[in-house]
Amino acid sequence: MSEMKYRIRFENEELGSFTLAQLMRMNKRGEFDFHAEYWSSKVEGWRRIAGIMNEEYPPRLLEMKEAGIECVEISLSGNGDDCPSCTALSEKVYPIDEVPEVPPWDCSCEPWCRCIIVARQRV
Ligand SMILES: [Zn+2]
Repeated sequence: MSEMKYRIRFENEELGSFTLAQLMRMNKRGEFDFHAEYWSSKVEGWRRIAGIMNEEYPPRLLEMKEAGIECVEISLSGNGDDCPSCTALSEKVYPIDEVPEVPPWDCSCEPWCRCIIVARQRV
């Protein structure tokens, strides 16, 4: 099985196709920032790179709901480098029917959003 590669566009220029590991190194070297876009084969269009993890690991809200989960929270990357919008989202517990979009529209995480939606016990 070959690793998934993503076409990347930054400042209106296509940079090529890269694996997530390559993209992380490129971001560290400053070759693109969170304004970049990736080509989504699901929607057949350019999408914000913030949401690139959703391409391979979409949130499984329906499955969680079917499993009886009523509340969730948004868990950050754990590296302490999440953007202010993601950090704000992580400070609340949400009923499963009112989960905000992840990543938020103004996510500026580098190189992309690493938030995940996790089950939370009702308190
Ligand atoms: Zn973010």
